[in-house]
Amino acid sequence: MLPEGEIKTRLDEVRGRLAEALRRAGRAADSCRLVLASKTQPPAAVAAAYRAGAREFGENYVQEGIVKRAELTALADITWHLIGHLQRNKARAAVATFDLIQTLDSTRLATALAQQQRNPPRALIEVNLGSEGSKRGVAPDAAEALLEAVRNELAVVGLMTIPPPASQPAAARPYFAGLRLLRDRLAAATGLRLSELSMGMTEDFEIAAEEGATIVRVGRAVFGERKG
Ligand SMILES: *Cc1c(COP(=O)(O)O)cnc(C)c1O
Repeated sequence: MLPEGEIKTRLDEVRGRLAEALRRAGRAADSCRLVLASKTQPPAAVAAAYRAGAREFGENYVQEGIVKRAELTALADITWHLIGHLQRNKARAAVATFDLIQTLDSTRLATALAQQQRNPPRALIEVNLGSEGSKRGVAPDAAEALLEAVRNELAVVGLMTIPPPASQPAAARPYFAGLRLLRDRLAAATGLRLSELSMGMTEDFEIAAEEGATIVRVGRAVFGERKG
């Protein structure tokens, strides 16, 4: 992991760039949260970011999240997000570990999640705007049916997307704008608020913030390049 001081410096820089992007877009400074994507990082790196003020972390694998959460129970007020694909057989562990499941993509997964506790878990629907076969998430034209099917089981509070890989960060802008339009359309059709838009990573989080992201998920810009 990077030295603690460097994690703090990088975090401060990302915060500054996010604040500047929000300002450019005429948005309030507190209208977009920074979730640190901590996959492959040791608990010590999460703790370093925590001491520098970070309170929200995203993990891709349930097991890795369980281990880190358990090692870091001394750190109060952390919000844990699941940002990687979730299999139904891990639903119980996921609900016990994560405060927000960002990758809901099927009615069967929603049912498995809802069975685990009395309060409906909070979730975002992952939308695949690039419609590549390899990508997770539901197609945009299937999102409304999924939302209607699961709205009584889960608290769906918004949408998440990962745009197709591109050589230029600007190539992501239409996808971010598209997720926001889809959100507006779904909110109007269902009467649900869908206030969260989770989009933007290290290469393009400023563009996502300009396009209305309420959550950006940033890993490498804070923690450095991942090994392997
Ligand atoms: C790893 C990951 C991120 C962060 O990616 P960086 O390029 O390291 O900022 C964001 N979202 C998801 C779903 C990820 O898997």
